[in-house]
Amino acid sequence: MTKRLKIAEILRTEPLNTTIQVKGWVKAFRNNQFLALNDGSTASNLQVVVDFENTDTAILDRLKFGAAIRAQGTLIESQGKGQKVELKATEIEIYGDCNPEEFPLQPKKQTLEFLREHAHLRFRTNTFAAVFRIRHKLAFAIHKFFEDRGFVYLHTPVITASDAEGAGEMFRVTTLPFDGTPRTESGEVDFSQDFFKRSTNLTVSGQLEAELGAMALGEVYTFGPTFRAENSNTTRHLAEFWMIEPEVAFNDLQDNMDLAEGMLSFVIGYVLEHCADDLKILEERLIEEEKSKPQDQRSEMTLTEKLRFVIDNKFERLTYTEAIDILKNSTPNKKGKFQYPVEGWGTDLQSEHERYLVEKHFKKPVILTNYPAEIKAFYMRQDDPKEGVPGPTVAAMDILFPGIGEIVGGSQREERYDLLVRRMHEMHIPEEELSWYLDTRRFGSCPHAGYGLGFERLVLFVTGMTNIRDVIAFPRYPGSAEF
Ligand code: ATP
Ligand code: MN
Repeated sequence: MTKRLKIAEILRTEPLNTTIQVKGWVKAFRNNQFLALNDGSTASNLQVVVDFENTDTAILDRLKFGAAIRAQGTLIESQGKGQKVELKATEIEIYGDCNPEEFPLQPKKQTLEFLREHAHLRFRTNTFAAVFRIRHKLAFAIHKFFEDRGFVYLHTPVITASDAEGAGEMFRVTTLPFDGTPRTESGEVDFSQDFFKRSTNLTVSGQLEAELGAMALGEVYTFGPTFRAENSNTTRHLAEFWMIEPEVAFNDLQDNMDLAEGMLSFVIGYVLEHCADDLKILEERLIEEEKSKPQDQRSEMTLTEKLRFVIDNKFERLTYTEAIDILKNSTPNKKGKFQYPVEGWGTDLQSEHERYLVEKHFKKPVILTNYPAEIKAFYMRQDDPKEGVPGPTVAAMDILFPGIGEIVGGSQREERYDLLVRRMHEMHIPEEELSWYLDTRRFGSCPHAGYGLGFERLVLFVTGMTNIRDVIAFPRYPGSAEF
């Protein structure tokens, strides 16, 4: 049996003058002779030279774009330009035909919108194959980063009963019938008859459970799907997305920022080092896409330059209060160019404000800290009052990236029982529902901190794609749960 080699391995090891077998899909076939074969192991194709004189014309006719085939022959130094090696085929077998009249994809550029409607086939384009190989490498790099630092990967539940976190609107999980839903005497839905004997939802975040783990394991992280039924039809929101949430005992806000910045630099560096071919494809795609934009809206850097820039420069760190000052005095604010004018301290920042800070003012990633308590979650640690800061703040940090806006949201957590409970009361969060969470503060509480990184926002940044729906295989968003 002749060994089947993956194209990535062939191009890496170049086993010249040996008989090998390759299996993959036809990318192109020209002059009845030169076949470009791809098997997904790399962005590069292998040139297969078909011996057309000794091959059945019936077979030659079936070597269409998209067909799945096997080719066997000798690997030789390429006679032509454009590649170093080529397979001189002696055998061609067709596994699956691909009728060009019916196949929705064409061997030419197709719009991302069209491909989104054909998401079941879009892996077969060079762009999406590159995106999903990079997505994989990023996931691997994240695990590697935490593994190298002794973190424990904690799997937090997907179905939860806690709906107090307030990170977003939740999807309900139930087995109760729609018709004849059981009711209590007072007419409310009787969840005691539901599967879990209580009302349950899909998780919006694994943080609260991760905190429980950190209180014994020290350093944990989650990496799992999260769900938000938010009606956000934006290029940065999904209803189902993956989140990485480290939680570290004894870390304060500074440590938390260092960890997040270190992680982002590490994983971006990892992709630069290991995905050069795929980045090249995406870089070229981006250059093409930018051509349709007016000159002043085109980015000043190529994709790899942008990635390099992020790891070569320290992120800018400043407080929310300082950011508000910058925004208030900014040209777009004074000229009324912001859709949401920045008037005063205390309001949440809109993505136009975040992007101004990152893209125009600092021109690099920014970490904003110490937000007003009013606009942040109950579990964030309350800061001591500070001169020049108009209201109470919490030890929050958001990392803002060019083209993306918020990519990471995190905080030092409130470890002081009394202060935490007081804040919960103020925010009308029922204590009983979170008694298990409060136990961490009652028994061996300690300072700790963590954050959530939206995985797709990271993939978006690294691949230079512009719509988050193009960096997850089968996106879920309002009105769409196809495939
Ligand atoms: P945004 O203001 O952009 O909606 P958020 O404040 O709701 O974000 P967090 O609750 O802090 O975000 O979630 C942590 C991270 O998860 C965010 O920094 C972001 O990277 C990511 N994220 C949040 N919501 C979504 C979503 N709907 N789709 C994809 N990623 C998301
Ligand atoms: Mn949100």
